[in-house]
Amino acid sequence: MHDQYLQAMGITRWVKRELDPVSVDDETVEVKEEIAAPKPIESNEVELSVVQTPESHQADNLAWPELIEQVKTCVACDLHATRTQTVFGEGSQQADWLIVGDAPGTDEDIQGKPFLGKGGQLLTAMVEAMGLKWEHVYITNSLKCRPPESRDPNEEEIAACHVFLKRQIELLQPKVILAVGRVAAHNLLESNEPMKVMRGTEFTYKDTGIPVVVTYHPAYLLRAPSNKAKAWQDLKMAMRIVAGESA
Ligand code: SF4
Repeated sequence: MHDQYLQAMGITRWVKRELDPVSVDDETVEVKEEIAAPKPIESNEVELSVVQTPESHQADNLAWPELIEQVKTCVACDLHATRTQTVFGEGSQQADWLIVGDAPGTDEDIQGKPFLGKGGQLLTAMVEAMGLKWEHVYITNSLKCRPPESRDPNEEEIAACHVFLKRQIELLQPKVILAVGRVAAHNLLESNEPMKVMRGTEFTYKDTGIPVVVTYHPAYLLRAPSNKAKAWQDLKMAMRIVAGESA
């Protein structure tokens, strides 16, 4: 099964000798349809009657259940008017890895879960290719509501929603944040640099000291599969950081 995920990432597995099983590099294959979607991990949701408005918009000191509810009822930017539901994120609240995308798409908006469809399948391949299990990972987006027509979120929307991502990071204290895609990278790094500049460098999230690694969004990799090899280099860099090796 692990070979299948490596293959989906465009990585050729070859065996040098018996005790040296894997070397990766290489080119591309398409995502396998049969790759399983991420296993949903239930959040500890509670019923609270708190409504976020632009005026009361904050998330400092909230625990997971209150934060989940704050997001669910948030109307702090215009995206609340067109969403079907918010997409908070899912995964282990003790995860070492935080993967941050840009914003929910159509399927995510309908189902309330991040990284669905073929992009989610490729993200699964990326996670499995690294040898991670889903209990090691938390996935979310920079924006918790879908922008209409899946347009790019604007600066005001990103800024309004950042309090929630910031609080997720504070609660999670991951060993690494993987920013997948331009919107996530710009949001986390407060940068407007192009991807080619942001990739390949270990950053930190604000003054937390938490490492940030930038890579391509799986949806982009589906459109440009020749970049999967570059993405794999990014993932290996993140793996070295988590292992305590120099990036
Ligand atoms: S995108 Fe974020 S800030 Fe805007 S309404 Fe949704 S949860 Fe609130």
